[in-house]
Amino acid sequence: MTQTRIVIIGAGYAGLSAAKRLAGHAAVTVVNPRDEFVERIRLHQLVAGGDDATLPLTSLLVPGTAFVQATAETIDAAGRRVALSTGEEIGYDHLIYAAGSRSAEDAVPGAREHAVTVGDLDGARAARRRSRSRSAGRRSATASTRAGAGSGSAGRSDGDPLSGRGEWS
Ligand SMILES: Cc1cc2nc3c(=O)[nH]c(=O)nc-3n(C[C@H](O)[C@H](O)[C@H](O)COP(=O)(O)OP(=O)(O)OC[C@H]3O[C@@H](n4cnc5c(N)ncnc54)[C@H](O)[C@@H]3O)c2cc1C
Repeated sequence: MTQTRIVIIGAGYAGLSAAKRLAGHAAVTVVNPRDEFVERIRLHQLVAGGDDATLPLTSLLVPGTAFVQATAETIDAAGRRVALSTGEEIGYDHLIYAAGSRSAEDAVPGAREHAVTVGDLDGARAARRRSRSRSAGRRSATASTRAGAGSGSAGRSDGDPLSGRGEWS
């Protein structure tokens, strides 16, 4: 008997939870740009140097779950197909869209040019690099000033690990 095909876009918390629940009941394919799970709730710890906030996806996917490393670019609902950044297309019977959220730098004029983000892995890694280089160059600084924008989990979380560290002077 042909198994129901389920495609999951995004291997974050939601996508991986869905994949785990559905494994064994359908032919599950997970599509994600990276072959690692990004622990977004630890990105502020990455910026502070306490965690790398990633785990290999292979350690989290139930055996038998297919993984495609790509970005989903277009959903053809009528044809039940997803076009990927690799040029491939994959067909589905059911589609789960678990692509998460992203920082809204462009909603705040100046944020993209003058602020760091902890909302995604690339941004958090860039913030970490910036923090380390500033720390190395300004070890004698005695005061620092930071301003945070956003009161979601990221905005609230980044204060603690970074407070009191001279890296942000
Ligand atoms: C610093 C920080 C601290 C946080 N702390 C907390 C907390 O303490 N408690 C809490 O509840 N929440 C917290 N959050 C929020 C929490 O991380 C998010 O609510 C959660 O990550 C959402 O999970 P998700 O699976 O929906 O999306 P995500 O975790 O964002 O995963 C989405 C996945 O989809 C992928 N993707 C995106 N677009 C595509 C595409 N087109 N094709 C294929 N794949 C795609 C992404 O690469 C990613 O892997 C925090 C967030 C941050 C940034």
